[in-house]
Amino acid sequence: MKLPNYIDLAIIGAGVQALTLTTHLLQKSAKHYHKFLVFAPSQTWMNQWQQQFAAQQIPYLRSPAVHHRDPNPHQLRTFAEHRHSELFPPYDRPGTKLFNDFCDEVIRRWKLADKVYPAKVIQILPIKRASRSRFQLEAESDAAVALYGCDCPVCINALRRLQS
Ligand SMILES: Cc1cc2nc3c(=O)[nH]c(=O)nc-3n(C[C@H](O)[C@H](O)[C@H](O)COP(=O)(O)OP(=O)(O)OC[C@H]3O[C@@H](n4cnc5c(N)ncnc54)[C@H](O)[C@@H]3O)c2cc1C
Repeated sequence: MKLPNYIDLAIIGAGVQALTLTTHLLQKSAKHYHKFLVFAPSQTWMNQWQQQFAAQQIPYLRSPAVHHRDPNPHQLRTFAEHRHSELFPPYDRPGTKLFNDFCDEVIRRWKLADKVYPAKVIQILPIKRASRSRFQLEAESDAAVALYGCDCPVCINALRRLQS
């Protein structure tokens, strides 16, 4: 994906909060689709959530079926129409696999897979302009290139050691 020079809305992190924000944004107006980009080192949605649920072997969510990433609160129950055994009492708490499949479906339906740019943001700097306030994002790889002329894993690790 080619990074544009300007973007109206930069969302840092591709976790559950960002996914919820983007679906609500698009529900308000499809025009927002070309106005935002999401930044996450993994370039995938829900990476941290999935890793942590897998690491802890969590079988089902603690939140009820109406709490999820789609603006329609009934959407998860509709998705689980033929998977009732994966809704756990009380309040139909979704199983981890069901929930992850549902999130994949949300990402597909809202065409969000290509909206994640692979970058870890390390700085947000205000740019003062007479007409309009803007911010500049600095990605970890940009900082490594500026310092070492390269953003290979060795240079990224050297930068991280320097920063810590
Ligand atoms: C054991 C456990 C069980 C839970 N059960 C539930 C549950 O049943 N239901 C529920 O709703 N919640 C549950 N939660 C809470 C839920 O995991 C968190 O509330 C949720 O993950 C927070 O979402 P988030 O998008 O803010 O963060 P995350 O899901 O952590 O996502 C943040 C993302 O941002 C990226 N990121 C971070 N810094 C940067 C940066 N500088 N630049 C670019 N990208 C960056 C990360 O790589 C990550 O992908 C549970 C939590 C735990 C620990």
